[in-house]
Amino acid sequence: MRDPNPYKLLTPGPLTTTLSVREAMMIDRCTWDDDYKRMTEEIRAGLLDFAHVGNDYTVVLMQGSGTFGVESVLSSVPGDKDCVLVLVNGAYSERMVKILERHGIAHARLDFAWDQIPDAAKVEAFLAEHPEVTIVSMVHNETTTGLLNDIEAVGRVVKAAGRTFIVDAMSSFGAVDIRVGDISIDYLVSSANKCIQGVPGFSYIIARREALEATKGNARTVSLDLYDQWKGLEEGHGKWRFTSPTHVVAAFHRAMQELREEGGVEKRGERYARLNRRLREGMAALGFTAYVEEAHQGPIITTFFYPKEGFSFAKMYAYLKEHGYVIYPGKLTDRDTFRLGNIGDLNDEDAERILKIFSDFCALEEQNGAH
Ligand SMILES: *Cc1c(COP(=O)(O)O)cnc(C)c1O
Repeated sequence: MRDPNPYKLLTPGPLTTTLSVREAMMIDRCTWDDDYKRMTEEIRAGLLDFAHVGNDYTVVLMQGSGTFGVESVLSSVPGDKDCVLVLVNGAYSERMVKILERHGIAHARLDFAWDQIPDAAKVEAFLAEHPEVTIVSMVHNETTTGLLNDIEAVGRVVKAAGRTFIVDAMSSFGAVDIRVGDISIDYLVSSANKCIQGVPGFSYIIARREALEATKGNARTVSLDLYDQWKGLEEGHGKWRFTSPTHVVAAFHRAMQELREEGGVEKRGERYARLNRRLREGMAALGFTAYVEEAHQGPIITTFFYPKEGFSFAKMYAYLKEHGYVIYPGKLTDRDTFRLGNIGDLNDEDAERILKIFSDFCALEEQNGAH
């Protein structure tokens, strides 16, 4: 079959999947049949492998996009006496605060500049001064900007202070190697349509079993109840509590196999990092400046400033789309930016092609400007 995709996505999820991943969705599956339940259980076990953890961790699959997974954790883990500290340096950590506010859960925030990683020493000092804080929550790769936060450094101080650690590793897990147990992450959240290269429809939570077991009855909603969802999967041996996104699950199962075939998380991370470096470097040569300095740039997505006054994002978007790629607008509130994602089924040739299209567009703009 010829790939029917009219263009490739330079967006950080949904992203361009392989034709074989999309083909895995051609079968309608029965949710209580053993074949399907086995698929679910293989996904849960495989995710533990990617996280380098054993039986002291467990996996919960949750219907919905990534935010549903984050909200499931934030609304199911804290009890009445808990207080959650959110480290804020982008739109996704800002969203964590919004979720806690909406549920009326006690919380605090520690703000950092959006182009700076949270300083572990500041977190350590804050925890020492605020014994009421029992849980720390942060984002790993801030997809808002492309900034890769240092979860190892923060994890060390969170663990030393004896607090629970929640990490949104949505756009990093599967490409940035995360030794979940070594960092003492209690809850890591990611979703099907990011670096594992599945299609959108569910999120997953890798949870420290002992921590999760202690949260029974804490959930504020029924559908996002993390503990109940987990119990359902455990007792049903892979049967989901409510209707599961069967096609999405089958695609994800296939995508995990393709990640292993590529050489695992390390190899995928190398491909993404190579593409990211090449795009950053090629765009710089064309006069596009990146928002995040190289040292903190993650390998998934890059934010660029508009090159000059009067620059039209809409025009550039249309030109790129016509030539086979779609890009992402910026997510900063104070500066005009756009973003180039480089995750998904993209290779080195794509990077060269993309840079050529940008170069042609810039040349055309120059010509038009000269008239
Ligand atoms: C994609 C993403 C999410 C989830 O967004 P959804 O639109 O709900 O899938 C959360 N956090 C980060 C860092 C992300 O990249």
